[in-house]
Amino acid sequence: MQDTVASIVQKHIEDRPGYRLVPAAFGKPGQQSKVWVECPSWCADDHVQDWNQYAIDLDHWGSCDASWDVDSIHQPGDRLLSLDARLHSDPAATDARLSAAHVLMDDESVQVYLTPEMAEKTADELIAFAAQIRHLARQARQFNARASQPHRSQADEALRRVRASKWQSLSGEDIAALPIVRLLRAFGVMVVEYDIAGVELLGEPGHMELRVGRATRQQLRDSEARRLIAEYAAGARRV
Ligand SMILES: [Zn+2]
Repeated sequence: MQDTVASIVQKHIEDRPGYRLVPAAFGKPGQQSKVWVECPSWCADDHVQDWNQYAIDLDHWGSCDASWDVDSIHQPGDRLLSLDARLHSDPAATDARLSAAHVLMDDESVQVYLTPEMAEKTADELIAFAAQIRHLARQARQFNARASQPHRSQADEALRRVRASKWQSLSGEDIAALPIVRLLRAFGVMVVEYDIAGVELLGEPGHMELRVGRATRQQLRDSEARRLIAEYAAGARRV
């Protein structure tokens, strides 16, 4: 194998554009010898530190600048899916596509080797994939927003409409005379206690809310409710 070292060094000794001479260590542990090898300008590997037993094992590795990883709802912060891409070449490879500079992609379990053309195709596909992920995110968000709205069946809706229009058959005199309970029912009013002073009426007939201050006396509650409902009805009829 020492022959291979010599021949590779010899092969690279001429000054080729894009290459520089760097030291590399080869040999068994404790019996390494340093030789100069040509190394592509993009190689980030330290061939002395990351020594090889045989010259045939020497690969050139670009820095791992292109990387992506994602965690999960279950394990936030953990790299559960990951991909990185870097330049690579294996000068001793018999396949010229591998001895030339190419792109190596790694998902931490599988490595794939891509010619520049294959890498370009992969990049286009990843762009399309990213658009699909964005589309899925939008679908999920829209679905969740719709699903979180209060459910109202058709029957509920019909009932609500009947209730909502019931008040229109009541005259000003009816509103003044009807027992308060019936009046509240006719307008679809729900009474809720609040930490406020006095009484407020909100919403539309069918689902109105009468907000009543906790300290408000019953008689005042009733008279205020009747007054506010009459005010609403008079205003709504004017429109
Ligand atoms: Zn190198």
